[in-house]
Amino acid sequence: MKIYNTISRQIEEFVPHEAGKVSMYTCGPTVYNFAHIGNLRTYIMEDVLEKALRYLGYDVKRVMNITDIGHLSDDADSGEDKMLLGAKRERKTVRELAAFYTDAFFADCKKLNIKRPDVVQPATGLVDEFIRVIAALEEKGFAYKAGGNVYFDTSKVRQYHVFFNFKEDDLEVGVREGVEEDENKRNKNDFVLWFTKSKFEDQALKWDSPWGVGYPGWHIECSCIAMKNLGETLDIHCGGIDNVFPHHTNEIAQSEAYLGHPWCKYWFHVLHLNTDKGKMSKSAGGFLTLSKLEEGGAAPMQYRFFCLQSHYRNSLVFAEDTFANAQNAYNKLKARALALPREGDVDQAAFAKYRAAFADALSADLNTSLAVTAVYDVLKDKALNGATKRALIEDFDRVLSLDLLKEEAPAASEANAEIEAMIAARTAAKKAKNYAEADRIRSELAAMGVTLTDTPNGTTYTVRK
Ligand code: AMP
Ligand code: ZN
Repeated sequence: MKIYNTISRQIEEFVPHEAGKVSMYTCGPTVYNFAHIGNLRTYIMEDVLEKALRYLGYDVKRVMNITDIGHLSDDADSGEDKMLLGAKRERKTVRELAAFYTDAFFADCKKLNIKRPDVVQPATGLVDEFIRVIAALEEKGFAYKAGGNVYFDTSKVRQYHVFFNFKEDDLEVGVREGVEEDENKRNKNDFVLWFTKSKFEDQALKWDSPWGVGYPGWHIECSCIAMKNLGETLDIHCGGIDNVFPHHTNEIAQSEAYLGHPWCKYWFHVLHLNTDKGKMSKSAGGFLTLSKLEEGGAAPMQYRFFCLQSHYRNSLVFAEDTFANAQNAYNKLKARALALPREGDVDQAAFAKYRAAFADALSADLNTSLAVTAVYDVLKDKALNGATKRALIEDFDRVLSLDLLKEEAPAASEANAEIEAMIAARTAAKKAKNYAEADRIRSELAAMGVTLTDTPNGTTYTVRK
């Protein structure tokens, strides 16, 4: 497989450190709010990457963290903890908030056919390990105490800006407009490994440590969770493009300082989903969630299809007309696949030929739009019988995961009295403006495999078979 590596800024042949095996790490969500469809774009493309690697024969182990502590509202270590802000907003404890939005995230992933990583590790579950690694960094001279916090000393690493040749002056992270400079930092890119003092004394979750009672910084979470579960050499690390700096830059600095050798070879970044007004972001509010798309009548698979139509290294604008086109195209494609007759035996030679073309598309820096085109090529080949076409589409869907051959059953009314009662309760809750209850019922139905579509004439539903 050939893949673009952000660190070399080139498309490279992917060669994992152990033949046939891939260790893969993904930065997970910060669970202070619903994931927006931009976050979900990143997770869809990472899911395709994982499945493509498996399709090409690799044995993949994938690990993801859940950021439930330490991610401040500004990446430069100032501002309030995002989790704390969310807890205040929703009058929940931080733990309740994390549990709620972690479940909501995986419910969205399930609807989008995003496979759950092999290991999912909430940061709050591994604090002892963070403390152990921070202590080792301190011992090796890479960390210093100042003003009650422990900082990573970026001047001690040979090369800090590993991704791009940044001009230092352009990166005054600590003094970004509107952000107060942290006077404890020896160098402007230094970052907090352990907080015992922040401007916000009401941090909800704290742990005892050699430096006092406090909590970990965001960056150390990912390094430790990756190293603990995937060992000292990581093959590929993924995230959205905004993670490049400072998050991934800091991950590399501290991991390599700790290990004393190179850590991760390939860095995979998904470009952003934007609205016509700019980047979609959770903190800016007013963002689109998968549930909002569904309330507008869209199916999650239509959004997955929309994402697969463009390359992960291009930013993607979510606009009503382009999304509507994708919805129509998906419906037509699925209808064509479902209409395929089952007759005949699978033509093995043709199967191998198309499979190779599909694998080539994936191997060409994960060219998902070309991979989708392979489905159309199969459909329109008059020389192929129905059985061969079905077998190929089923095979491709191991990676695309678009449910192209999955029959959606329009639910029979009397057998589904319970579902209909729940839908009626949801409609009543919406009418009473009790949106939390309405959302809860929708999630419960989703967990039962029921997808709702709100139309001007009421709510219709389909049940996953
Ligand atoms: P967060 O929950 O904020 O930690 O972000 C989760 C993931 O979504 C990270 O990998 C981010 O880089 C990614 N991300 C954030 N905003 C966008 C966006 N507008 N489009 C695509 N990915 C994004
Ligand atoms: Zn991370």
